[in-house]
Amino acid sequence: MKLPLIAANWKMHKNRKEAREFCRTLIEHLPSRHLQHVLLAPPFTCLETVVEAVAATPILVSAQNCHGETHGAFTGEVSASMLDDLRVEWTLLGHSERRHVFGESDDLVAKRLEGALKQGLKVVFCVGETLAEREAGRTEAVVAQQLQPLDKMRDLWQNIVLAYEPVWAIGTGRVATTEQIAQVHRVIRSAHGSIPVLYGGSVNPGNIGEIMRLPEVDGALIGGASLDAGKFQAMVAESLKAKGVSEHP
Ligand code: PEP
Repeated sequence: MKLPLIAANWKMHKNRKEAREFCRTLIEHLPSRHLQHVLLAPPFTCLETVVEAVAATPILVSAQNCHGETHGAFTGEVSASMLDDLRVEWTLLGHSERRHVFGESDDLVAKRLEGALKQGLKVVFCVGETLAEREAGRTEAVVAQQLQPLDKMRDLWQNIVLAYEPVWAIGTGRVATTEQIAQVHRVIRSAHGSIPVLYGGSVNPGNIGEIMRLPEVDGALIGGASLDAGKFQAMVAESLKAKGVSEHP
């Protein structure tokens, strides 16, 4: 994995044809040196298609969730070995929609994290506070609590990327200020120094440059604005420019 990392969370969007077309456009327009900074998280149904479409490139492919157990009576769930069977090496975990729309508790997310890491998956682990928690001055406490499961997994930190995604900024068009982003990233880094931290929450082509220029930010997790290959490709290029990564070796 190369920093900065620009990750696309497609959520519940795209069929296999659309996924294939997206990958083709990206590969056609971005040099391989840029593609090594890209991670794509399609829905489960498109994982195999995307793995095949990017097989000749350094693009990383991620699931959007994964169960912590290896197998069992868990209707609707997918395990790390099933992802491995598709040659998927990454998964998102703890995304705010999983936590707040589907009610995944800190405890459940911690079990998923432990199970996924122990089974050899690499994880983009998402944390972030709700608006009520921010307004109550609890942002740092909430994020610290969500990060607690990492403490007993220090030997696997090299397989984790964190994503700070304030819940109130996801899919709302409301972006955290650069001061708010830098502040939370500094707090996360102070306790988890070696783990890269991405920012996510209404990132788009207009704001990605200033976010990526923050030294505390190691990349972006992009939802809505990642669905259009042209927009996404522009955001990758802008991010690499902001971080001083040149197009040529
Ligand atoms: C996300 O899904 O992780 C996300 C940050 O969404 P959006 O960019 O649409 O706010």
